Amino acid sequence: MDEWNNYETLEHHEGMIWVSKLFKTENRGNICMLKNGHFHVLAYIAPAQLKTKDLNTVVMETLNAAGIRNMEYITCSICGKDFDEADVNIVDYPDDVCISCEKNY
Ligand SMILES: [Zn+2]
Repeated sequence: MDEWNNYETLEHHEGMIWVSKLFKTENRGNICMLKNGHFHVLAYIAPAQLKTKDLNTVVMETLNAAGIRNMEYITCSICGKDFDEADVNIVDYPDDVCISCEKNY
């Protein structure tokens, strides 16, 4: 488990995005993405960055800069792993199938 970024230090923001509880008390912290059970740090935000913008805006800008188009993830019905929405075919089959399982579906 990550010593600095875990369920104790982070709180759920939206979709797969979690942010440091420190934002509430110290106006700084990490923006993290929860993927396959691990928190990945997308950005560290300093107090100066929150002087003119709110946290929601900073999170959106961080996601855009990282090339993350949406904050939702979908669990593959076959392998049970979580993927970005773009990597799971939810349209063509009765199951939600990820790109690697789709080859053998
Ligand atoms: Zn799969």
